[in-house]
Amino acid sequence: MKKTTMMLKKKFKNFNTKIKEECGVFGISNNNDAAALTALGLHALQHRGQEGCGIVSFDGKKYHSEKRFGLVGDNFNKEKVLKKLSGNYAVGHNRYSTTGGTTLRNIQPFYADTNAGGISISHNGNLTNAITLRSKLVKDGAIFYTTSDTETIVQLIAKSKRQKTIDKIIDALFQIQGGYALVMLTQKTLIGVRDPFGIRPLVIGKIKNSYVLASETCALDIIGAKYIRDVENGEIVFIEDDKLESIKPFPKKKQRPCVFEYIYFSRPDSILNGKSAYEYRKNFGIHLAKEDNIDGDVIVPVPDSGNAAALGYSQQSKINFELGLIRNHYVGRTFIEPSQKIRSLGVKLKLNPNQTSILNKRIILVDDSLVRGTTSYKIVKMLYDAGAKEVHVRIACPEIKYPDFYGVDTPTKKELLAANKSNNEICKYIGAKSLKFLSIDGLYNAMGFESRNNNYPQLTDHHFTGDYPVKPIDDLGDDKITQLSLLSTGSDN
Ligand code: AMP
Repeated sequence: MKKTTMMLKKKFKNFNTKIKEECGVFGISNNNDAAALTALGLHALQHRGQEGCGIVSFDGKKYHSEKRFGLVGDNFNKEKVLKKLSGNYAVGHNRYSTTGGTTLRNIQPFYADTNAGGISISHNGNLTNAITLRSKLVKDGAIFYTTSDTETIVQLIAKSKRQKTIDKIIDALFQIQGGYALVMLTQKTLIGVRDPFGIRPLVIGKIKNSYVLASETCALDIIGAKYIRDVENGEIVFIEDDKLESIKPFPKKKQRPCVFEYIYFSRPDSILNGKSAYEYRKNFGIHLAKEDNIDGDVIVPVPDSGNAAALGYSQQSKINFELGLIRNHYVGRTFIEPSQKIRSLGVKLKLNPNQTSILNKRIILVDDSLVRGTTSYKIVKMLYDAGAKEVHVRIACPEIKYPDFYGVDTPTKKELLAANKSNNEICKYIGAKSLKFLSIDGLYNAMGFESRNNNYPQLTDHHFTGDYPVKPIDDLGDDKITQLSLLSTGSDN
């Protein structure tokens, strides 16, 4: 292990560094209702992060910024707050985070004054070299205000010796590595960037004379914007008024979008590469059933993450689909609870068995993924307690054996069940009668590929294969550290 890595590991042994970035980004040009449309766009992207939200607008002279903890609908629902965000240009952000840096300071969009003018930035993803870069910047005298890796980008832009803002941005982008989708506002230019592999998503839409940038197409639908195309991997788009220009300054790479957008992240109605996430997920279920030969009485989805796959499984196997679990929609996703103990409680709060459709039944329980096994463990027990005869767990993606470094909140290898246990051991651990995962070939087939191209995979599927497109150079062994404060513990304001 390198000396610096060992030093960092020692230094941050007791520092809670689990700051997660999944996040939704949005931006709009040339529109009198820029802030209100941004609030709507963020509302549609709420599933990507519920910890905090923010909007920054530009009115031709000044930037305006409002950032809040909690949901968009609870914070940007009043004329009063939207009026403060005047101007025809706006960018917004939904933040997903669990523990550690839950401070208002970490809520985006970030804003900075540079010698070429103000710049505001929203980021979805994770930089794999943020710690190294931050360390260097701090040594050079930079003062960090937040614990987010996004601020590293801001600092690099501000520090660039280039004259024009766009050149400063390119300068910064050449130094960062990882998975990222950025939406920036430099006065009257809206800028969108996707990392060289296109790991994190970003789409372009249009509504009248306004361009829109968003993490997913569902954010275009909500405001009646038309989908134009995706920002391509390694592409930077500049939007001024109703004109869009594009450059591709990075060495060319084949795209490798994150498979987890298809499996779990994206809203089912969002379009990914021409098809809805719903359709892909249903196909994962169809292929899972094709690879299976278990006999059961009912297919029960884990709501809502397993709904589409369970439907596909049911259609393929001709076994009835039943809502055997009822979800309380007023509780956040289980992962958002900070500790393992609370996470387990979260599952209880969220789901209740629907006894009449499971009593004495042989249940095939379908979910989209299994990470720590918390969800499956709780639900299998819940179903048996409610009178199920047998519970067979079916997972509509392959075994997750490797952590993610590009913005998906998967835990360390230590906590990933499939990284440490065999299929039989996992099955025993979750208390199921049997357990099966979709194969890697099945996953690719379900997405319309003949097979995985092992020389150059069509997606980044490192979660299952360990084949990382960008080497996680900030990885400090098994203590996955994606972001941290090199300065202090930070204050809560
Ligand atoms: P676990 O309970 O740890 O096995 O996690 C699996 C459950 O969490 C499944 O129901 C998934 O829908 C959901 N899930 C999978 N990946 C993520 C993620 N990155 N963030 C939040 N939830 C997730």
